[in-house]
Amino acid sequence: MTATTQNVALVTGASRGIGRAIALKLAEDGFAVGVNYAGNAGMADQVVADIEANGGRAMALQADIGDAESVARLFDTMLETFGRLDAVVNNAGILQMAGITTDNIEVLDRALATNLRGSWLVMAKAAETLSEGGRIIALSSSVLARSFPGYGAYIASKAGVEGLVKVLANELRGRDITVNAVAPGPVATDLFFQGKSDEQVESIAAMAPLERLGQPKEIADAIAFLAGPQGSWINAQVLRANGGFA
Ligand code: NDP
Repeated sequence: MTATTQNVALVTGASRGIGRAIALKLAEDGFAVGVNYAGNAGMADQVVADIEANGGRAMALQADIGDAESVARLFDTMLETFGRLDAVVNNAGILQMAGITTDNIEVLDRALATNLRGSWLVMAKAAETLSEGGRIIALSSSVLARSFPGYGAYIASKAGVEGLVKVLANELRGRDITVNAVAPGPVATDLFFQGKSDEQVESIAAMAPLERLGQPKEIADAIAFLAGPQGSWINAQVLRANGGFA
């Protein structure tokens, strides 16, 4: 085990999109970073290379967050490699659009498996592992307030995440560990663009008073605030980083 005095963060789903930006930002803020991914090893390796090129420390770690054994292995490897863990950002998530019909029940099952079961597993392991001063941050979504057709499975899974965050904050009473969620509005990533026409993208982008999509970096900045020294008194909150979208 290589013990370190450097703060250490685990970011799930950090091979691309918002997770990638979070990993880069936390590394910039001085954290050694575990860069988790599901299947895109090459992209995760590139995030690690980008962090190392800036003088930081990082490692790519494959694990499906919906699988309990994989999540346990993920945390074991983090501790073996870095010797400590200070912040866990459960960012990995999926979005598949589907109406609420009998035929679409598998879409709900998939959304719950990754977004909700995955959040449970990662946050539970974070709660077991983190010591005093630890930070747990989960990703929800501002689309909860909009209830758009087709978002039923996704919204159900993210509403569950917001519930878990508040309960876990209470369960960790006395441990000096904060538990919060960040709920982005529409952000320019694969997850958002997939399956949308240019017109749909434009109309959603125009909904917020700021009249544009968010950038991954803008969500990473909110998360770095919660993970850093300035976020110490913020607990059991859902921070809606969304340009005023909802
Ligand atoms: P992307 O689709 O761009 O990236 C998803 C990331 O999650 C990838 O790194 C992917 O890994 C990883 N991932 C997916 N499934 C799993 C799994 N089972 N186990 C481990 N990793 C997994 O998504 P975004 O960056 O847009 O989204 C990040 C988070 O932000 C999600 O929780 C999403 O719901 C939330 N969010 C996004 C919004 C947006 O508009 N983009 C708005 C509101 C919330 P790999 O590359 O290996 O597939």
